[in-house]
Amino acid sequence: MSTILVTGGAGFIGSAVIRRVLRDGEHRVINVDALTYAGNLESLPGAANHPNYSFEHVNVRDASAVARCFREYRPDAVIHLAAESHVDRSIDEPGAFVMTNVVGTVNLLEAALDYSRSLPAARAQAFRVLHVSTDEVYGSLGPAGRFHEQSAYQPNSPYAASKAASDHLARAWFQTYRLPVVLTNCSNNYGPYQFPEKLVPLMIMKGIAEQPMPVYGRGEHTRDWLYVDDHVEALLAVLARGRPGETYCIGGRSERRNIDVVRAICALLDELAPRPSGRPAASLITFVADRPGHDLRYAIDSTKIVDELGATPRESFESGLRKTVEWYLANTEWTDRCLSGAYTGQRLGLEMGGAAS
Ligand code: NAD
Repeated sequence: MSTILVTGGAGFIGSAVIRRVLRDGEHRVINVDALTYAGNLESLPGAANHPNYSFEHVNVRDASAVARCFREYRPDAVIHLAAESHVDRSIDEPGAFVMTNVVGTVNLLEAALDYSRSLPAARAQAFRVLHVSTDEVYGSLGPAGRFHEQSAYQPNSPYAASKAASDHLARAWFQTYRLPVVLTNCSNNYGPYQFPEKLVPLMIMKGIAEQPMPVYGRGEHTRDWLYVDDHVEALLAVLARGRPGETYCIGGRSERRNIDVVRAICALLDELAPRPSGRPAASLITFVADRPGHDLRYAIDSTKIVDELGATPRESFESGLRKTVEWYLANTEWTDRCLSGAYTGQRLGLEMGGAAS
C-alpha cells in the first residue's frame, strides 16, 4: 500500500480524489488542508474513521509545518491541490492568492525535494509530485482553437497569474533539481460538493431558493466543462503513468456557453423540483455586469492525455449535470452549512466593474 499526500483534500476536487482513493482501498491518504472557507471536512463522509486516512490541519504557507508532514508520513506521491481558487475573490484580494498559490507551492516543492533526497534510490525514483493547475493560465481563446500543452502562458486574472507562477515553479523544480514533478492543466470542473460560489452550484442553489440567477454579461463566456470524477480518474492516471517533467491538459469535451449551462440547469430543476408557482426556473435568470477582464473562451485539446494515458471522460455534459443537480437537491444541508459562514451567495470581484445590475 502506498501513501498519497493530498493538499487541499477538504476542497471540491481534493475531496473527490480522497473519496475515490478511500473507496478503492489501495492507498493511504494524508489530507493536508488549512480549512479555509472553501475547505469542508463534511465533504469526506466516513473518512475520519477510515484506517487509511489521516488529516493534518496545516497551512501550505507554513513551510515548517509542510516539511513536518513529509517527515512524519513519508508519502510515495503528492497531489497538490491546495489553492485559493475563485477568480472573483482574486480580484478583491490578490495578495492571498500569491501567498497560498505561489509561496505555498514553493514551500511544498522545497519540502518534497528535501524529503525525496532522503529516500532510498528505488523509492526516490518512484516518488511523484502532481501539481494541479488550470487552463486559465493560457488566457482567452477567440471563437476557434483549443489550448494544448504547448500553448503560451497569458494569464489575465490575479488567480490565473498566481497559478501560472506556481506552474513555472513546479516545472523549474523538475528542470533544476530533478524533482519528479508532473503538471496538469484542466478546464472548469463541476459536480457534487463544489462550494456554491462557482457557476454551476451557485445557479442550482439560487434556483432551488427561487432567487435571481445572476449571469455575467450576456452569458456568452464559454468553458469546457469537466465532471469532477472524470478529472479525478485523469489525475490518478497521470500519477500512475505520467512522465516527470511533462504537462497534461485535461478537458471534458463539453464546451458550453455559460447561458446554455444555466438554461440546462433550469430545465433540470423544472423536471426534478418544479417551483410551487409553476413558473419556469429560467424566469429567474438575470444578466449582471460582467467580471473585469473576463476571458471569453477556454477549450482543451486533450489528445495527449487520451493517447498516452487512455484517460477519457466518461460523463457527457448532460449526464454529469443531471447527477450534479440531483446531488444538490438531495444535499441542501451541506450547502446550507457551507453558506452559514461569511459567504452567502453575494456578488464578489467587482473591482472596477461597477455595480451589478
Ligand atoms: P477549492 O477552493 O474547492 O478547494 C481548495 C482547498 O484548498 C480547500 O479545502 C481549502 O481549505 C484548501 N486551502 C486553501 N488555502 C490553503 C492553504 N493556504 N493551505 C492549505 N490548504 C488550503 O478548490 P478546487 O476547485 O477543489 O481546486 C483544487 C485545485 O484545482 C486548485 O489548485 C485549483 O487551482 C485547481 N483547478 C480547479 C478547477 C475547478 O474548476 N475547480 C479547474 C482547474 C484547476
